[in-house]
Amino acid sequence: MNNAEILRENYHKIIEQLPVDVQLVAVSKTNPIQAIQAVYDAGQRVFGENKVQELVGKYAALPKDIQWHLIGHLQRNKVKYIAEFIDTIQSVDSEKLLEEINTQAIKYNRVIKVLLQVKIAEEETKSGLELHEAKELFQRYLQGDFCNVEITGLMGMATFTQQKEQVAKEFSYLKQLFDQLSAKKKLSTLSMGMSDDYQIAIACGANSVRIGSAIFGERK
Ligand SMILES: *Cc1c(COP(=O)(O)O)cnc(C)c1O
Repeated sequence: MNNAEILRENYHKIIEQLPVDVQLVAVSKTNPIQAIQAVYDAGQRVFGENKVQELVGKYAALPKDIQWHLIGHLQRNKVKYIAEFIDTIQSVDSEKLLEEINTQAIKYNRVIKVLLQVKIAEEETKSGLELHEAKELFQRYLQGDFCNVEITGLMGMATFTQQKEQVAKEFSYLKQLFDQLSAKKKLSTLSMGMSDDYQIAIACGANSVRIGSAIFGERK
């Protein structure tokens, strides 16, 4: 099999396992244009990248009906490079960042969808809002402070561990917050789960998963 065939097969394996109401974000970071095009040709339209510069280059080179999600930490001074085309920014981890996204969205006269990234892992390295910060920011949003952003849901990454109970505990914690906030204003997207833990995430209530290596192969 050539590379495009392998990608197509990996992609179909994942698609077949996902419940119909679970969205797949194909995480294409570090992978070349041709690989993304192959998965696009197999039918995928939603792709995730974690670096602005890489995303901008890929956006320019690939079909314009791709919905791009930014899933990595975003510096405020780089929002302007993606504001014109980004579909969803999944990694909103501060109030200042949300303000800047709103400002840039106004410039382009559009509404940018965002997810609040919440810190659920025990590892110190993983970023995201603390629980109380997420609640406070959502409250400000409900007051109408950010007219050109739409908070569509939450994103979280679990601790990197083989202990499934730990991972499930962290995902369930985010699901609880999702239900709490959703009671105030309906949220559509709970983004949790990657190649190694997406089944646990779905069992815990995820309706959007971010899968990279299980489709594109291990990253170098
Ligand atoms: C890289 C990345 C993924 C995908 O990870 P895989 O293990 O390759 O599936 C998902 N979410 C975020 C935030 C990432 O940075």
